[in-house]
Amino acid sequence: MKVAVVKESAPGERRVALVPETVQKLTQGGLEVLVEQGAGDLAWFPDATYAAAGAAITSTADLYATADVILTVTRPDEAMVTRLRAGQAVIGVLAPLIDPHLARSLADRGVIAISLDGLPRTLSRAQGMDALTSQANVAGYKAALVAADAYGRFFPLLITAAGTARPAKLLVLGTGVAGLQAIGTARRLGAQVSGYDVRPASKGEVESLGATFIELTSGVSAAGEGGYARELTAEERDAQQAELAGHIARQDVVITTAQVPGRRPPLLVTGDAVSAMSAGSVIVDMGASPLGGNVAGSVPGQTVVTPNGVTIVGAENLAASVPTAASNAYSRNISALLLHLVSTSDPEDRGLKIDTTDEIQAGVVVAHDGEVVHPAVVKLLAAETANQGS
Ligand code: NAD
Repeated sequence: MKVAVVKESAPGERRVALVPETVQKLTQGGLEVLVEQGAGDLAWFPDATYAAAGAAITSTADLYATADVILTVTRPDEAMVTRLRAGQAVIGVLAPLIDPHLARSLADRGVIAISLDGLPRTLSRAQGMDALTSQANVAGYKAALVAADAYGRFFPLLITAAGTARPAKLLVLGTGVAGLQAIGTARRLGAQVSGYDVRPASKGEVESLGATFIELTSGVSAAGEGGYARELTAEERDAQQAELAGHIARQDVVITTAQVPGRRPPLLVTGDAVSAMSAGSVIVDMGASPLGGNVAGSVPGQTVVTPNGVTIVGAENLAASVPTAASNAYSRNISALLLHLVSTSDPEDRGLKIDTTDEIQAGVVVAHDGEVVHPAVVKLLAAETANQGS
């Protein structure tokens, strides 16, 4: 079976789906690896390092013509979709809950679509495949560095002959994988850190990193399914925003990471809360998206300064800005999934074995045999068709 690694095309994307170290593992597992020319350049993996690991450096045309499986980091763009042919498989973070039409068009072309973001994350045998966690970890680390860079003072307490600088007060809103890594990194930089989340389980995790957990008197508690948060009701949201505003006003730096699967990110920092912050404060909104983010006024991919002097960084795809570490981790995740998908095939003739009775496959297989098969994606597409009809 020929497995191909493509050069990512999304603006600002510097990651690559496989790194040379993992190529070796796949070839030892009986797979042939093709790498599109220059695929690893932006993550500092030159073609020669792939060739040395046993991959064949291939032109774009040959790669699409001969590959059985194509590995990507992000969603294929239109140009890539039109190159894919029936029977070929594409594996990556395809975000089918955000873009169900991509799943539909891949199914229409007869392409097998497999998306790492559907992985059952609490299943222990799937943890090595969990790209959402590995990439959120990288992004959380970078968020703390971005905040430190935009902040006009020190993070740590510094006592020097020129005077004493107090440590920065930093609050992380949303303490899942990215938030916890942001807390750890900000603590290592010397900031005085607190964290907040709607899942009660996160209190212990925040405190175990030496940060303070903020508990709201309104007592909003919103653990959802699969370890995720659920969307808050309008009353819960208003109570949360109002109470958080008081905490936010006392901070020098706020990092927000809150997400609810398949929904637009919750607004945690309102316009009033931003107005109450001091000049020189910094907010990094990791939830920034075209639909709106965790912070009123954040613009994805841009840094804005409010009239009262608050810098709001609309942080998009931070993992791509730490490309070597992010690619190393992603490569381990995607190759673990790939090896799982071929594990029941003939060792002499490795091939993908689609079997959605397997718990991992049921989560990740979005389309095969010309149909969208993932229940959540099917539901989204059906709801859209019903809306168009009404
Ligand atoms: P995520 O990216 O979906 O969300 C980030 C954080 O935002 C979450 O902690 C969520 O609770 C929080 N959030 C959502 N709405 C909020 C609101 N209105 N106010 C404040 N916070 C809000 O989540 P994630 O980082 O991918 O992880 C979610 C959970 O899954 C965590 O508990 C994590 O530990 C767990 N997880 C478990 C495993 C495992 O068991 N192996 C693997 C990965 C993640």
